[in-house]
Amino acid sequence: MQNRLFDIQEAVAESSDELIALRRDFHAHPELGLQEYRTAQIIEEYLNKLKIPTKRYTETGVVGILTGGRPGKTVMLRSDIDALPIEEQTNLPFASQTPGVMHACGHDGHTAIQLIVAKILAQYREKLPGNIVFLFQPNEEDAGAELMIQAGVLDDTKPDAVFGLHVWPRISSGKVGILAGPMMASAYYFNMRIGGKGGHGGHPDRAINPIDAAMNVLQGIRTMVSTEWNAIYPTIITVCKIHAGEKNIVIPETLELEGSIRCLHENDAQVRERFAAIAKEICHAHRCTCELSFKCGNTLVKNDENLAKMATAVAAELLGEENIQSGREYATMGGDDFAEFMQHIPGLYYYIGSANPEKKTDTENHNPRFLLDEEVLPIGAEMEIGLVLKYLGA
Ligand SMILES: [Zn+2]
Ligand SMILES: [Zn+2]
Repeated sequence: MQNRLFDIQEAVAESSDELIALRRDFHAHPELGLQEYRTAQIIEEYLNKLKIPTKRYTETGVVGILTGGRPGKTVMLRSDIDALPIEEQTNLPFASQTPGVMHACGHDGHTAIQLIVAKILAQYREKLPGNIVFLFQPNEEDAGAELMIQAGVLDDTKPDAVFGLHVWPRISSGKVGILAGPMMASAYYFNMRIGGKGGHGGHPDRAINPIDAAMNVLQGIRTMVSTEWNAIYPTIITVCKIHAGEKNIVIPETLELEGSIRCLHENDAQVRERFAAIAKEICHAHRCTCELSFKCGNTLVKNDENLAKMATAVAAELLGEENIQSGREYATMGGDDFAEFMQHIPGLYYYIGSANPEKKTDTENHNPRFLLDEEVLPIGAEMEIGLVLKYLGA
């Protein structure tokens, strides 16, 4: 893409070896959420060497600000930096050196991309109309964005828009996925404790078995989703943990149930409200108590229409229109806490396709055999630079 300042593809190509080396180093040294001390230090040193001042928001969240030579808007780029509690099974020469921890979601690639983007844009700082905030976020897998926001990162840096990307093993390498509107579902985790009355297995009449209540609660919430919600607004409730009882002759006192409610629409609060009402009424009908709490995993990732249009134009220039996927089938009921930034400023989250069956990089993320197609990393850097320059009008 020929830009007024420089040729983006050429600039990224010159740094592609470094991009891959950075990614491999992060990959070999993964760190769990909120423990990304080594990663944060490398980011900080890298940015400071580029004369980009940095500040920490939370212990391991790093933010660098590149101030352009001319006034203009402020745009934020966000990369997540955390790894997962997974034992890597890839046999790569640069596989995780930390037992039980693995970059199985591609955040190592995201971090490397954003550093290279900072390096390239820093070379043109005098000519840039506006500022770029490079945000490196800890603990994406468990609501790290909100911690940085609470620490004041948006109040201090005042971005006008935010962009973020994710390498995506469900889209072919060489393509990008850009969707306007809802793209990734909100996720609220629930914990439910159903209280009954323990007793002898031979005398259920003298006890109150919370398992019976739970069976009907499960049925009730499924019926609620399929009958109360317009099916064009995707909603799923998944129960992933249920625990009650220790012995086959003892009716348990309590039952614990956990799972998530995911909505690819904005009426998530109403879904939770009905979920709670149905669960409580059914428990009460069974003479049980019901304690219920929710924790926000992430809110809805809903892309700004104008930014999506702009990104589509950038991708068309860089990759060609035929390499843009924008179908609703690329929306996901999984989530990302990139959404928390979008609660405050317009944003765009998009996918960098990374599936190449020949290289087995179409393995799902969060899998111990997850592989990343490194050839797509330069595309991520090109897209980020293209978006920044277009947004700032450089
Ligand atoms: Zn993940
Ligand atoms: Zn991820």
